[in-house]
Amino acid sequence: MAFKTENKTFVCSVCGTASEHTIITETDPPQGVPDIDLRPDEPHRRYMNYWVMKCPECGYCNATLDVPSDVERGYLSSEEYTGFGGITGVGEKAGEMIKKALVCVKNHSYQEAVQSYLYAAWMLDDEELDEQAKACRKAAVAILDGHPAAFKNNPNFRLLMADLLRRSGDFDRVVREFEGTAFTSQLMTAIAFFEVNLASKGDSAAHRADEVPGVTAK
Ligand SMILES: [Zn+2]
Repeated sequence: MAFKTENKTFVCSVCGTASEHTIITETDPPQGVPDIDLRPDEPHRRYMNYWVMKCPECGYCNATLDVPSDVERGYLSSEEYTGFGGITGVGEKAGEMIKKALVCVKNHSYQEAVQSYLYAAWMLDDEELDEQAKACRKAAVAILDGHPAAFKNNPNFRLLMADLLRRSGDFDRVVREFEGTAFTSQLMTAIAFFEVNLASKGDSAAHRADEVPGVTAK
């Protein structure tokens, strides 16, 4: 068992329609090594499919449908929303995750928006939709750049920025902004050093945490 699920009814906070969804009730701790952006190993990665719900009536997407939102119902039929913010050719779940990111931006939940784009990118990585995964990472970078106050003093997002930039091919910026950067955590400093090293070699691939020199991840 990597995880257990059950079905539950949720009432959509935008349109009031009730619908049934599968949620995770229990998970095993991951056994394998995560990637350096903390993408979990298989089979734990598969529970990402349960990290987003879509209302069958109005198309509202969020972690659960009862999460209140500032979005107007009209926005949910807008070209931006139905067209996944311009990221075309994505699978169903990745598309819902991108829509959740768009909702989070409307709600000014910028940290959750970045996380949602990252999760969508992980799903697209597994589907080998590289261009779309790259577009999700660029969208996450744009949120980090556009709303610095929301991420101020949060080293986790600062470090994630290095990975998002590298995985979307902006190697120069990784080197420029992270070369010689020290974090309060030694592990994070080691990961940042590793990111700069990969970027300077033009490496945009996923790497596991146990590849970081000096790190012995279990
Ligand atoms: Zn709805």
